[in-house]
Amino acid sequence: MADTIFQKILNGEIPCHKVYEDDHVLAFLDINPVSQGHTLVIPKEPAETLDQLSDESSAAIGRVLPRLCRAVLKATGAQHFNILQNNGAPAHQAVFHVHFHIIPKEESGAGLGIGWKPSDLSSGADLARSISTCLGN
Ligand code: 5GP
Repeated sequence: MADTIFQKILNGEIPCHKVYEDDHVLAFLDINPVSQGHTLVIPKEPAETLDQLSDESSAAIGRVLPRLCRAVLKATGAQHFNILQNNGAPAHQAVFHVHFHIIPKEESGAGLGIGWKPSDLSSGADLARSISTCLGN
């Protein structure tokens, strides 16, 4: 399968505005920011979706993500932000390499727009048990 655009960034084949790198993680500015400071955080591991990512890469992202959020807030002056993480085309994933968006919410209102329709939880006990069973607990 052809490399994704993020794999090409990791390979150094196309440029990016890098803000952070370690052995497992790269963070850089989104090329089409929803708000100023919109940053993408990706594992170096070439997993397409979060459920396919190794525990090691997941832990590496988890270790640095809050620090990156603090830096984005400090640099932009924003006080609020969203983390967005899309998996699969119907869930708005366009680049099939795991990535977390850090999206500052600007005073002007620029930032992530969220529209969801809450419904009623039905069969919650059965569903929770089923998910727990699938976890292998
Ligand atoms: P997704 O919809 O997959 O969650 O988001 C993909 C993101 O990647 C988009 O916000 C898009 O602007 C960003 N993006 C796509 N191509 C490039 C690129 O070549 N460089 C950078 N820095 N960001 C990109």
